[in-house]
Amino acid sequence: MPRLVRTAATLFTTLALGLAACPAPAAAPAAAGALRIYFADVEGGQATLFVTPQGENLLVDTGWPGAGGRDADRIVALCKQAGVTRLDNVLITHFHTDHVGGVPQLAARIPIGRLIDHGDNTETSDPATLAGWQGYQQTLASTHAQRLTVHVGDMLPIRGLHAEVVSGDGHVLQHPLAGGGAGSQNPYCASSPMRPLEDTENDKSLGLMITFGKLRILDLGDLTWAQERPLMCPVDNLGKVDIYIVSHHGMDRSSSPALVDAIAPRVAIMDNGGHKGGSQPAWTVVSASPRIANNAGDLWQLHTAEDSDAAHNVPEQRIANLPGADAGHSLSLTAYRNGSFVVANQRNGASKRYPAQ
Ligand SMILES: [Zn+2]
Repeated sequence: MPRLVRTAATLFTTLALGLAACPAPAAAPAAAGALRIYFADVEGGQATLFVTPQGENLLVDTGWPGAGGRDADRIVALCKQAGVTRLDNVLITHFHTDHVGGVPQLAARIPIGRLIDHGDNTETSDPATLAGWQGYQQTLASTHAQRLTVHVGDMLPIRGLHAEVVSGDGHVLQHPLAGGGAGSQNPYCASSPMRPLEDTENDKSLGLMITFGKLRILDLGDLTWAQERPLMCPVDNLGKVDIYIVSHHGMDRSSSPALVDAIAPRVAIMDNGGHKGGSQPAWTVVSASPRIANNAGDLWQLHTAEDSDAAHNVPEQRIANLPGADAGHSLSLTAYRNGSFVVANQRNGASKRYPAQ
């Protein structure tokens, strides 16, 4: 395609998507009063940094170990961008290595105030999980980080953020949350297939409903399809959310229709890797959920799902990392108490504002 035509086509696509080709509004001073969220690229693991307007922070998971500290370096780079010099709270959703593995390397690079977990590791048959659990315990023993074990119904002790534990250690919330229309019968249960528990740490994932003003943000770690069931059926205990951090990197073992159609996110952020997560079944459930399917919202991806196809990836403007050399680009989200928020792609500077509702 001639350069001019391609540029025009790109511009058209940009306009059609409502994406603004302006610099990402991610710098700390530009977002007074906002909650800032950074989605680090840890190649199909999780590492999500929340920074409250009061300056307190929460990191959910730490990515993988090894690779010369790649994931810890990427998290620290985002901390620098966010003006964070100490991690106040690091929550480990569960003890699989793509979540807890980065803890020792991270602790060697930046002070950690508190490590939050669901209780001791329960999966003793998997060597990598055992190694992650041991590294976690060694970090607790060799640093000043305090351990805090939380349970379903607990509120995380973080100023400026209302973060309630809705799953953990194999238990899920047994009553409806306030807000989001929670507490009604869930019409999506009947057509949502049942699946057995995995009997792994995934079933034990800590899940959070984070409320910031009018915004509701859901992060369930790698909580499994079977554990979503008692949380959402027959009564929807969560209600609608604005932002869904897609469980389990978009693997087809989480994100049942009973969950995703009921929470009906406006925006979903999938922390998939190039060759991990981003499965066609989970991608389809999220894309077909009510508010994304009717263009009231969007799915964003940390990577192109390279084992999938073009029909099961979002447009490139909403993907942080394309096939090829991996620069570890992040996505960020700046959220306001009135319910509006902006998602930004570090790779191309594109951003999109979602209005208050
Ligand atoms: Zn995972």
